[in-house]
Amino acid sequence: MNLQPRRIAILGGGLTGLAATHRLIELRGDRPLDIHLFEAGSRWGGLVGTIERDGYLIDTGGDSFITNKPGALQLCQRLGLSDSLQATEAKYRGALVLYDGRPYPVPEGFQLLSPTAMWPILKSPILSTWGKLRMGWEYFIPPRKEQGDETLASFVRRRFGSEALDRLVQPLVGGIYTSDPEKLSLQATMPRFLVMEQKYGSLLRAMWRGKTDVVEDTTSSGARYGLFAGLRGGMQELVDTLVTRISPHVTMHLDTPVDSVDRTDDGHRYRLRFHAPHNSLSSDFDSVIVALSASRSVSVVGTLDPPLASALSSIEYASSTIVVTGHRLADIADPLNAFGLVIPHRERRRILAVSFNTRKFPNRAPAGRMLLRTFVGGAMQPELADLDDAATIQLVREELAATLGVRGKPDFAIVVRYPNAMPQFHLGHLDRVAEIERLTARLPGLAIAGNAYHGVGIPDAIHSGEQAAARLLA
Ligand SMILES: Cc1cc2nc3c(=O)[nH]c(=O)nc-3n(C[C@H](O)[C@H](O)[C@H](O)COP(=O)(O)OP(=O)(O)OC[C@H]3O[C@@H](n4cnc5c(N)ncnc54)[C@H](O)[C@@H]3O)c2cc1C
Repeated sequence: MNLQPRRIAILGGGLTGLAATHRLIELRGDRPLDIHLFEAGSRWGGLVGTIERDGYLIDTGGDSFITNKPGALQLCQRLGLSDSLQATEAKYRGALVLYDGRPYPVPEGFQLLSPTAMWPILKSPILSTWGKLRMGWEYFIPPRKEQGDETLASFVRRRFGSEALDRLVQPLVGGIYTSDPEKLSLQATMPRFLVMEQKYGSLLRAMWRGKTDVVEDTTSSGARYGLFAGLRGGMQELVDTLVTRISPHVTMHLDTPVDSVDRTDDGHRYRLRFHAPHNSLSSDFDSVIVALSASRSVSVVGTLDPPLASALSSIEYASSTIVVTGHRLADIADPLNAFGLVIPHRERRRILAVSFNTRKFPNRAPAGRMLLRTFVGGAMQPELADLDDAATIQLVREELAATLGVRGKPDFAIVVRYPNAMPQFHLGHLDRVAEIERLTARLPGLAIAGNAYHGVGIPDAIHSGEQAAARLLA
């Protein structure tokens, strides 16, 4: 009988790696495991984090997650965080979209690509009369005959017309993926709408027959605001709870970037090598979960499996910057009756979106104050993510003044950078992922997880990490 514990390494201490580690502990039963979690940075959580400043509670990355995908919600419940879950404020649910320089409400019932009701569209000034007629005409447009992937832009233009794409869909989708819809894969981002077209002939027909649930949309973390939740202590609460729960059972290594994963000389195990200051060290493991971004994984598995590294490198990334500012409500002309503002590319502004954080979660700023999070850069304006802090803050202040009438000096301005952080699900993404999974399946004991494959959001990352853990123990 083999009493040696099985050695498992998890690379990356973001939500994917933490969730994978937690799941290993949940599932291990009486199996002896020697689990090591390696994180390059000096804190856990990766892209998510929360700080406090001048009485404001600030999520520096994601601030909420969609609850119709079980990953994050169920994990919070299993961790005993149900009382900390915070629904978004019902009163302000919805988004504004900039049109001709002014913010207007996105028509009620508009679900990312498609309306569930025509009346709010007809009343909205965002589309011209022709644009509205063209949207309604969708009812009569036959489904596409060709098989295979299509870009999101092509799909929307074909079914609803260019106005709907440019004025509504592009900014809403850009708010989630920070991407160019001319490149985004419909199959990988919003398969639900493709199935609605195929099955009912038209999205409007499907919507009006109440057939929106024809398939579980497992990839988009859509802008259905009623379905989003945050945590009272910010997203860091989830990170801290996971760390508290796993640390008695795991050897936790902060500031330990893994340089490479290779086969041991006998070919039966995996050898991890580390960057400076640990670069003379190596350690052998029976199993490895690579819970890094696809772009970081490329060099880590580069010598282990060059075809896998090449497949991983085919997933592109976009960079963005968030500028977090605190304001006196009296200094903001717009009433901010929504969760945020999205900005169509055609408006030629220098910001992508603004999240009105205190409208989503009212008690996260002192009385009479508003926390704004302004997104800059993304796939369509990459050069703006490279500006230095002072220039970025200046740009954001000018744009907030022009779009929302924000005056005066903010209480503070914090710049948070996300270089190459957002995976781009471009045309053919599902084929790329299938290839990565085929190549990974040839490597027994190795799993790859993260938000670059089956969904970009927090629930997707958690689900991916948990599945990797379950596969390793299966
Ligand atoms: C600006 C922004 C806003 C977002 N907002 C939302 C939102 O509101 N809702 C939502 O659902 N999703 C949101 N997301 C997506 C969400 O944040 C991610 O899906 C999730 O955090 C990804 O977690 P991860 O662990 O896969 O990756 P990461 O958080 O990137 O974790 C990977 C970790 O690996 C570490 N690492 C890198 N290289 C090495 C190495 N060689 N060795 C060891 N460790 C290494 C990194 O330091 C990092 O900590 C947002 C993303 C961004 C960029």
